[in-house]
Amino acid sequence: MSDEPAQGPVTTEAPAGLALPTPDLIAALSAIVGSEHALMAPADQARYLTEWRGRYVGRTPLVVRPGSTGEVARILAACHAARVGVVPQGGNTGLVGGQIPRETGGEIVLSLERLRAIRAVDSLARHLTVEAGLTVAEVRAHANSLDRQFCVSLASEGTCQIGGILATNAGGLDVLAHGSARDQVLGLEVVLADGRIWPGLRSLKKDNTGYDLKHLFVGSEGTLGIITAATLKLRAKPEETATAFLALADLEAARAVFDAVEETAGPMLTAFELMSAFAVDVVARHVPGARRPFASPARQPWYVLMELSGSPAHRPAHLVRDEIVAACAEAGAIADAVLPASQAQTRALWALREAMSEAQKHEGGSIKHDISVAPEHIPELIRRADAVAARICPGARPCAFGHFGDGNIHYNVSQPVGMDNAAFLALWDTMSAAVHDVVAELGGSISAEHGIGRMKRGELARLKNPVELALMRSLKAALDPRGILNPGKVV
Ligand code: FAD
Repeated sequence: MSDEPAQGPVTTEAPAGLALPTPDLIAALSAIVGSEHALMAPADQARYLTEWRGRYVGRTPLVVRPGSTGEVARILAACHAARVGVVPQGGNTGLVGGQIPRETGGEIVLSLERLRAIRAVDSLARHLTVEAGLTVAEVRAHANSLDRQFCVSLASEGTCQIGGILATNAGGLDVLAHGSARDQVLGLEVVLADGRIWPGLRSLKKDNTGYDLKHLFVGSEGTLGIITAATLKLRAKPEETATAFLALADLEAARAVFDAVEETAGPMLTAFELMSAFAVDVVARHVPGARRPFASPARQPWYVLMELSGSPAHRPAHLVRDEIVAACAEAGAIADAVLPASQAQTRALWALREAMSEAQKHEGGSIKHDISVAPEHIPELIRRADAVAARICPGARPCAFGHFGDGNIHYNVSQPVGMDNAAFLALWDTMSAAVHDVVAELGGSISAEHGIGRMKRGELARLKNPVELALMRSLKAALDPRGILNPGKVV
């Protein structure tokens, strides 16, 4: 990749236009959080400096762990005055390198992990105000204890934080029914680059008093402000869900089934996840206890995990079994189907889907694309991307899966068996550019969920409309005129 981590000798260098943190600044920041939360020893810093896939490994003189919004504000005010770069970090599960400082060691890392309070819940539990460092799983559990649900669900939810999912506008498994992280937020508290606090924790459904500032910060990947708390929507839990795991002969069948389900079930359709046979094989091979849902005679190249939710009056199980699966099988679109008979079987099918990112690590190097197009273009997207992968690296093994209903495919390509890992990964730029060209031709996006971070900055500059890019740069300059927030990320 053009923006690979430096392999050569380590230098200490500030990002362009910024200064290096001085010993005085480091002492001042340490005094704000207390020495226990100012990490300088390499062993204490290690887990903040390596991303989940090991793709980026950064350096910093200091990881600060503030314990309140006020402390975040004082840290940013000091760094702003000193013109020193700050990298905000949540759960460190981001997949585009946004949360990792550069290898040159000139930036401070600011971890939100100590901001963990549940600040408020309204009497009917329609919304919840929490601090940024709670994990998504903790917020989901809290919502559950109120007999409500928080509708962001992703495989990293045990570690990723509320601030992180909002800063990246994360997607996940609930987008089809409830939208992405952006759609779950009513208000935000944000510390600006110069240390001012924007107290925007509102719970209003309607507020047309000018620009909707919260949506500027959602998805800004720590480049416009640091999110310290959020007021989140909670929703009613579905009374009944019904799941089916479908085997399909080709991608056109997936599209036909999706169209039929949307037509029949409308808003009751809450998930429509696509998986290639290779992706299922990878999980079955590497995840202890995982089993292929079908025996080999029913093996097909594509699978779909579908879920309908509704009240008992809407009879989701009946719809799935007697209308959708029966009708699509009769029309020849479904080759086989598993209809789980228990909660445990349903859980096992979802576990298969959720283990896909993790399991793929065991197949060697993987060149990853997090792309989206309109669902009707998915068959063409995957066909053309497969041709690109085969042309650039004969023997490479596409491992496509994702949220078909959202048009979002994780088009990952595993290295050919026996190929040298580094030689394969050296093809990343070439392969990604060619896959992204296909995406652009189909009117899609080169980052459906994970953001731009450091990894896709070059591709954003290459493919984004110049007017849009100029507007993004104007916003960055207005909100962070000294460029201290997450330097070198996104724009
Ligand atoms: P981090 O990784 O720490 O940071 C991500 C970015 O947000 C960085 O740019 C950082 O600077 C910024 N940031 C973090 N916290 C704040 C804050 N409080 N204020 C301002 N900026 C901040 N993503 C999806 O969208 N959908 C998925 O289905 C999905 N599945 C995943 C599965 C696995 C196994 C893994 C490892 C990752 C997955 N991801 C997925 C990616 C990742 O979990 C999300 O991007 C998540 O939102 C990152 O949250 P985090 O708290 O870990 O943030």
